[in-house]
Amino acid sequence: MSPSDTLVIVGAGHAGGRAALTLREAGFAGRIVLIGDEAHLPYERPPLSKALLKGESSLASCSLFSEASFLASGIEHLSQVRVTGIDTARHCVALDTGASLVYSKLLLAIGGTSRRLDLAPGQLGNVRYLRTFDEAVELEKSLKPDTRLVVVGGGFIGLEVACSARDRGCEVTVLEAGQRLAARALPERVSEALLTLHRRKGVVVRLGAQIEAFRGEDRVQSVQLASGEQVPCDILLVGIGMQPNLQLARQAGLETGSGIKVDAFLQTSAEDVYAAGDVCEFTRGDGAFHRQETWRNAEAQGRVAALNMLGQQQLFDAVPGFWSDHYEFGLQTVGTLAAEAQIIERAGVDGGFLLLYLDRQSRLAGASGWGAGNSIAKDMKLCERLIESRAVLPVEQLSDASVSLKGLLRGAHV
Ligand code: FAD
Ligand code: NAP
Repeated sequence: MSPSDTLVIVGAGHAGGRAALTLREAGFAGRIVLIGDEAHLPYERPPLSKALLKGESSLASCSLFSEASFLASGIEHLSQVRVTGIDTARHCVALDTGASLVYSKLLLAIGGTSRRLDLAPGQLGNVRYLRTFDEAVELEKSLKPDTRLVVVGGGFIGLEVACSARDRGCEVTVLEAGQRLAARALPERVSEALLTLHRRKGVVVRLGAQIEAFRGEDRVQSVQLASGEQVPCDILLVGIGMQPNLQLARQAGLETGSGIKVDAFLQTSAEDVYAAGDVCEFTRGDGAFHRQETWRNAEAQGRVAALNMLGQQQLFDAVPGFWSDHYEFGLQTVGTLAAEAQIIERAGVDGGFLLLYLDRQSRLAGASGWGAGNSIAKDMKLCERLIESRAVLPVEQLSDASVSLKGLLRGAHV
């Protein structure tokens, strides 16, 4: 890349912000333009459902970089500007301001949008979604003591908000359509631990909940379930998943599936166009396509995409993982939790546990843990290193918590 090149990033969220910063840190001296339709500098979203809703965080503390360091970086930030089209032949993006911008390389880090419930427009007065800082601020204002919060969706947003709302003295009911909590992302054992904890904290959780109707004229006053139960509602929080923003890429003729498809270097099917973060559908060694909606993925892909835009050839092969916090407990997952894996459970401290997922060669492919506070963090880090080592493990010893993971790592034979 020469200093006369212009590198354009669409999406000033986590992956986009990390990429912009990486370009500068890696020595690129030319023009970097970061375009985002939100009003803020790039920020991290995890605190939105946790500390921010409890009144323990602010925009500044979620920010990926301080205003001063951002100014010093010389990155141009076009805020509240939407990219409306991409012309890959002319290397050009169109903006909703009417202007257009020519790029040398382009990164699409445009994330996703909360999946909407089918509600009458007149009912939306007390309905909340949670993806952005502004939505978190709006939700935070409505979580007053004794507010009856009804949450649709027992996934990560629903459960983390339930937890923050209980902390603020709200009455919370979670309506989950499936037979267990966060079923797509978590092992059954962890779903059970979550269910027990939330119920113990006073959250009413309805599994297999079939919503028949939302009652109310100018807002949702109650939710009618097929079971006959009517759940009264002051605030309705919808957390039923997110849909990647694919429209731009599709219009531009890029290859898409459940996300924008990229090769092992995060390059899309169009020359000089890359993708990263929640919107990116990538391949691993196995040839299959994956898409991840996690902090860790946005962080790692933002970095790798930026370096590859600068001409490096970095393979994206980071071990996937995520965490989620609930009251004084936390869960973490690293690697791949395949249904066909052999699962071995180890006891953790204070009723916590670790599930080890082994492949056919007795190598660690993934792990999922649950425990008080941050008690599982160290073990999860060791699991990550064991996954990377591809070491063959002594299966018969793994359930014994006195056999240290560190020791196994030291003695690992690959
Ligand atoms: P985003 O951060 O969503 O950024 C995309 C940006 O692009 C947005 O600002 C969007 O407005 C903008 N954009 C879209 N289209 C355009 C356009 N055409 N023009 C201009 N701008 C556009 N993960 C974890 O691992 N652990 C957690 O505890 C955790 N907690 C979370 C809590 C909440 C409430 C949420 C919402 C997510 C959480 N996540 C968590 C997931 C994690 O935050 C996301 O995976 C991460 O933010 C994805 O980053 P991204 O850059 O791909 O997308
Ligand atoms: P999610 O984790 O996909 O969970 C959505 C849940 O809602 C699923 O259990 C889903 O069940 C259920 N559901 C779907 N439609 C429903 C309906 N009509 N009625 C009742 N339940 C329904 O999505 P999310 O919780 O909305 O989170 C959105 C995004 O934020 C994701 O990208 C997520 O990764 C991210 N996030 C992550 C964290 C974290 O990692 N700690 C925290 C907060 C947010 P089915 O699976 O059966 O459809």
